[in-house]
Amino acid sequence: MNITELARRLRVPTEELRAKLPELGFDIGSKAIKVPDRDVGRIMQAWQEFKKRSYLEKKMLDQKARAERRAAVHEGRAEVASLPPIMTVREFAEILNLPIARVMQELMRSGILASLNERIDFETASIIAEDLGFRAEKKEQGTTSEEDVGISRLAEARNAEGAELQVPRAPVVVVMGHVDHGKTMLLDAIRHENVVATEAGGITQHIGAYQVVRNDRALTFIDTPGHEAFTVMRSRGAKVADIAILVVAVDDGVQPQTKEAIDIIKAAQIPFLVALNKIDKEGANIEKVKSQLSELGLIGEEWGGKTIMVPISAKKQMNIDQLLDMLLLVADMEKDHIVANPNRHAIGTVIESHIDKGQGPIATVLIQTGTLHLGDTMGLRNLNYGKVRAMRTWHGETVKEALPSMPVVILGFKDAPSVGDVMEVPEDAKTLEKLKEQPSRKTGAGEITVASKAKTDAVVEEGDEKVMLNIILKADVLGSLEALIGMIEKVQNPYVGVKIVSKGLGNITDSDILQADATHAFVAAFGVKPMAAAAQLAREKGVEIHEYSIIYRLFEDILERLKILIPAERVYTELGTVEIFGVFKKLPKGMVVGGKVKRGSVELGATARVLREGHVIGEGKIESLQSGKSNTRVVEQGADCGMGFTGKTKIEIGDILELYKEEMQERKLDINN
Ligand code: GDP
Repeated sequence: MNITELARRLRVPTEELRAKLPELGFDIGSKAIKVPDRDVGRIMQAWQEFKKRSYLEKKMLDQKARAERRAAVHEGRAEVASLPPIMTVREFAEILNLPIARVMQELMRSGILASLNERIDFETASIIAEDLGFRAEKKEQGTTSEEDVGISRLAEARNAEGAELQVPRAPVVVVMGHVDHGKTMLLDAIRHENVVATEAGGITQHIGAYQVVRNDRALTFIDTPGHEAFTVMRSRGAKVADIAILVVAVDDGVQPQTKEAIDIIKAAQIPFLVALNKIDKEGANIEKVKSQLSELGLIGEEWGGKTIMVPISAKKQMNIDQLLDMLLLVADMEKDHIVANPNRHAIGTVIESHIDKGQGPIATVLIQTGTLHLGDTMGLRNLNYGKVRAMRTWHGETVKEALPSMPVVILGFKDAPSVGDVMEVPEDAKTLEKLKEQPSRKTGAGEITVASKAKTDAVVEEGDEKVMLNIILKADVLGSLEALIGMIEKVQNPYVGVKIVSKGLGNITDSDILQADATHAFVAAFGVKPMAAAAQLAREKGVEIHEYSIIYRLFEDILERLKILIPAERVYTELGTVEIFGVFKKLPKGMVVGGKVKRGSVELGATARVLREGHVIGEGKIESLQSGKSNTRVVEQGADCGMGFTGKTKIEIGDILELYKEEMQERKLDINN
């Protein structure tokens, strides 16, 4: 095999490989062009081992550098970072002036799974800052982050206005629980019963939240798809919901996301009740689930505890009314908190947001206090996001105003806000800064996808489109999934990228494998496993499944895969020109010619462009080179040479050959943040 071909396969410049080979125990000589076939396999293996060794060495150096940074902090030589009591990961990175991926990586090394907008406290941040070589100091003044402003404004508004201006509003309910335990079906069941009660035959629209009426009292349900309810709950601490329903399927019992939901509910300090769902199922063991819940501190009333538990069937619509009654009961107990002042400028939280092809940015905002009117200016993070052009309810009715606890779809945003953003109508619109022009959104056009299976063929020419690594992400809990997505989204490179074909929670199923097969993706399983049938199917289809338990490992693995996918660059270097003075003999695939090196040099293996009267008429390769009677590798300017030219062009006396060296150069995987 040609050494250049071997170098290409190993993605290393030929010279580097040639220089490294003796060290790896293969002394093929510094001028050798070919590698004996019997050595190829062994060289490739030795090269991989060498790479692995350098990786481990680099890791050790990393560890040493970390220890050094820590020592610097302890000896007072480190830079000081002034940190607020609470900050988002993004803000933390900004304060340290480090790339976000770097900070997330360090967080993960310490076992903290936080997405970009997740907030960390000073204690956590200071430990991580130390690892990164900063001495942390608590910043006491002016500590509110921009995102906190909206939230604290809610409390501030309430305190400043006094209790007398506050009137009761509909309680806002969020449904949480493990995947497949019946959250969607429960929300549908509640909606369904009450559509009939409120607006016979009314066409409902999915806008991320809806309101129903029970016993003449309104209840608002957050109905975000999939797990966005979690996000809404956690985003920026916005206390959107007043009451949570924890759905636990009695045929499946307590699962990882059940526990995660309990943690989130407790952290948000909101009252909740448990819906024991799927009681219609055969073999459902309610008592067993209650006992599992009691281990987590949730003890039902009939067991002497305080947690309200309602056995229901979302599918058969059993006990749904009873569940609503219980919610109203909880709302009564919380009535001092479930209030708002409708006679002020509106403050609300974005619970769904997208860009509609025809209508532009559209978002559903849940009004939390005040009344939102048509024409109001919308302030988000102190930026002017536009004016309310139109508002619709989940019934599809257009309205002119939205009262507290009412979810409304709003048209008029200049850019799509993020879920969890707090929107406030300012007293004076002039106080808001202008929204900066957003860079045009990526459409995904111009990207091609490449199988991870086909990675060895992933060399693409300059100018070709981006090579994407397809991945299907499955995780045990939303926290990890979000953290992974956050990390992956940071991978930006002009030549390669990662495309998350699908993401989800729970074990790997047949459909994940089929999808992976169809999209040539590999399946990354974080804290979850393939079901037996799925594992079998994966073997049959040749789909790769990789299980991880440390987020950073997964990330590193993705980077490794990208390194393989990154296309080598074809680099041409001009060598010189030769004027042809003799055409000697025909070869099967070319001819032997003689000439004088006019400029630079000619090298064996060079690419030759044939010019006649100033025009390029063809191209070929210099397959043999002679100076005088002997074979040589290089002939310099001024000297005569004989060349074996392979190519279709018929060279004539007087033609000029322009000579180039062509090399495949490995590109570095630079990850932009
Ligand atoms: P989610 O992932 O929590 O939103 O769960 P879904 O609402 O999508 O329900 C998951 C599966 O459980 C679906 O196949 C439903 O048909 C089924 N399911 C939900 N509620 C019940 C129930 O009360 N009884 C029975 N037998 N099946 C249910």
